[in-house]
Amino acid sequence: MKVPFFDIKARNAPIRDELLRAIESVIDSGQLAGGRFVDGFEGDFAAFCGTRHAVGVGCGTAAIWLALEAAGVGHGDEVITVPMTFAATLEAICATGAKPVLADIDAATYTMDPAALERAITPRSKAVVPVHLFGQCADMDPIREIAEQHGLLVVEDAAQAHGADYRGKRAGSLGDAGCFSFYPSKNLGALGEAGAVVTDDERIARRVRMLRDHGQSRKNHHEVIGWNSRMDGIQAAALRIKLGRLDRENQQRRGHAAEYDRLLGGLAGLVLPVCADRGGHVHHLYAVRVAGRDRFVDALGREGVECGSHYPVPVHLQPAFASLGCRAGDFPVAERCAGEFVSLPMYPELSSDQISHVAAVARGAIGACAAA
Ligand SMILES: *Cc1c(COP(=O)(O)O)cnc(C)c1O
Repeated sequence: MKVPFFDIKARNAPIRDELLRAIESVIDSGQLAGGRFVDGFEGDFAAFCGTRHAVGVGCGTAAIWLALEAAGVGHGDEVITVPMTFAATLEAICATGAKPVLADIDAATYTMDPAALERAITPRSKAVVPVHLFGQCADMDPIREIAEQHGLLVVEDAAQAHGADYRGKRAGSLGDAGCFSFYPSKNLGALGEAGAVVTDDERIARRVRMLRDHGQSRKNHHEVIGWNSRMDGIQAAALRIKLGRLDRENQQRRGHAAEYDRLLGGLAGLVLPVCADRGGHVHHLYAVRVAGRDRFVDALGREGVECGSHYPVPVHLQPAFASLGCRAGDFPVAERCAGEFVSLPMYPELSSDQISHVAAVARGAIGACAAA
């Protein structure tokens, strides 16, 4: 049996006709870049997240960058985030001219450790960007409290957490602004590239709208130096269709995670994901930890099970961020996790036969790795 790590065709197959009709109506309307499809999606997505505004942009990286920029982050500022994230989080901080400063993750949930955040604060700190890794919100109450004490903005990287909640509030609505990616493999994925910033803050929303459209506050009036990062009509139309399915799909992911938990529980040498009681995990990824990761992944591959690893090298040890001056050993929890993370296949379309197969193969591989 083959279990691909991700199956984009299976994701889109059930709504293929609906998507084609939506694309046709975008073509026929001529509203290709911005326009009424984007406005419509923005309204739907803001309502979904429970925020007053949503602003569609070109991708998730731009969402983080423009949200920070709109909130006034720039040269001379420090922005605190985590070493266990996708490079985009740091790229977006660097794009504003600010310096990323890292705070290690919590060993159970893999999201920002509030105590580490507190230690990372300096007089230059301007904002904190918690990352809702794998679909679970960071512990936002203490993070927000620390941010408030020190006058820091809170901008959520919610690129892996569409529809996740934290004590009854949705990801994206937990700070000053929330940033989403609609890259095709995310829980809410476009037919290409797209992203969004959600916020209750009128000023941030207005500024992101300007920044995404060459700094124009109205046609031919360039108020600030912006960029081109508009959402396009086809992505917006597709995303509206997919948004209507998101809660059900996240529920399916939860069912799959519970099934993996049941089948893989109690194995020495295999650390399963922890769902904190603070809220709804949406299982963008199902990441386990294994000491002999490479052998484990090879063994699964031989049985047709494709795995991923998110992320095998923490960002502070990537060559691109050498200028931060970090060294191995600086963030021990992130580094240990990076050496052990294995992402098992996780998407709504997984069948229970596939899950059983993955679990059976994983159990065997753990036994063999332990014996070796
Ligand atoms: C996907 C992702 C991004 C970037 O989104 P793009 O749409 O690819 O630019 C940022 N942060 C995290 C945590 C992500 O997973």
